[in-house]
Amino acid sequence: MNTIDMRSDTVTWPTEAMRTAMAQAEVGDDVYGDDPTINRLQAMSTERSGKAAALFVPSGTMGNLIAFLVHCQRGDEAILGDLAHPFLYEGGGMAALGGVQPRTLPTAPDGTLALEDIQAAIRADDPHYPITRLIALENTHNRRNGVPLTKAYIDEVGQLAKQHDLKLHIDGARIFNAAVALGTPLAELVAAADSVTFCLSKGLCAPVGSLLCGSEDFIARALRLRKQLGGGMRQAGILAAAGIVALEEMVERLAEDHARAAALAEGLAAFEALSVPTPHTNIVRFELNPQAGLSGEDLLAGLAAEGVKIGMGGPWGFRAVTHYWIDDAALEQTLAAFSKVLQG
Ligand SMILES: *Cc1c(COP(=O)(O)O)cnc(C)c1O
Repeated sequence: MNTIDMRSDTVTWPTEAMRTAMAQAEVGDDVYGDDPTINRLQAMSTERSGKAAALFVPSGTMGNLIAFLVHCQRGDEAILGDLAHPFLYEGGGMAALGGVQPRTLPTAPDGTLALEDIQAAIRADDPHYPITRLIALENTHNRRNGVPLTKAYIDEVGQLAKQHDLKLHIDGARIFNAAVALGTPLAELVAAADSVTFCLSKGLCAPVGSLLCGSEDFIARALRLRKQLGGGMRQAGILAAAGIVALEEMVERLAEDHARAAALAEGLAAFEALSVPTPHTNIVRFELNPQAGLSGEDLLAGLAAEGVKIGMGGPWGFRAVTHYWIDDAALEQTLAAFSKVLQG
């Protein structure tokens, strides 16, 4: 990358190995189920997730939307965190397209929803109330500094869901970051969930695509909805080929991104102008001290002039995400840019 782009891990380019695999991919019409490369990626995802079936979808947003639409009927209620991606950043799709009412609960700093809160939010069987149908968790949690949710916690929520005949969905856009950080294989981590989505297009570097995993019946219904939403693609094995490389070559190395995020946070913490909590995975969130003598926009513009892009949320909040294209030299250059902007 010519600039150092840490606005997100979605900015990652495909690797050389991906471009080669894409160029050579065997393809067919996936709406007919004829694309061998898509079928292989779905089989790999089935195995990795420990679910019975998997479906390639164009985006994490569509994967989550389909999950909400399969699990819930119009007027049903879904319990999720007030900082959850499908609540904040997916265009209100569950409400707009599914008539699903989000019931938000406070998100703890560790990304969890309190079990007591979930319990209290589950509706009694009373015609005044909507029907509670689904609990959705996010792993890793984007707005909570990329914190991973543990298997122990997910299992507890899963048990609660079962007791009340609810479904459990995991928005696992960055679930491989969680699996690697926790040292828990994906299938174990999501064993208690009825469905899970994960993105190939973030830290795993593939250009496009997410997987939605669940039971055979769930995926059969998801397939109809994907078509309805316009997500049935034809020779999409071109994309799946990159996804296969992502699963085979790009998962274990996420630990390097986590180590660089820790190093970046440590470097940033040395600046008095910044408060930097310790990151958990590849997301470094930090705040500019309002007394520092420059605005958030000044910091952003100053860094951009040095060839460093980061994300901004709120007047003083920032996010830098490490990924495959951020090496040690890029980290050094980033810290030098901060030094120049903050200390002149
Ligand atoms: C990126 C992201 C999504 C959506 O993925 P897209 O592929 O960008 O639609 C969903 N949930 C979380 C937590 C994300 O970070």
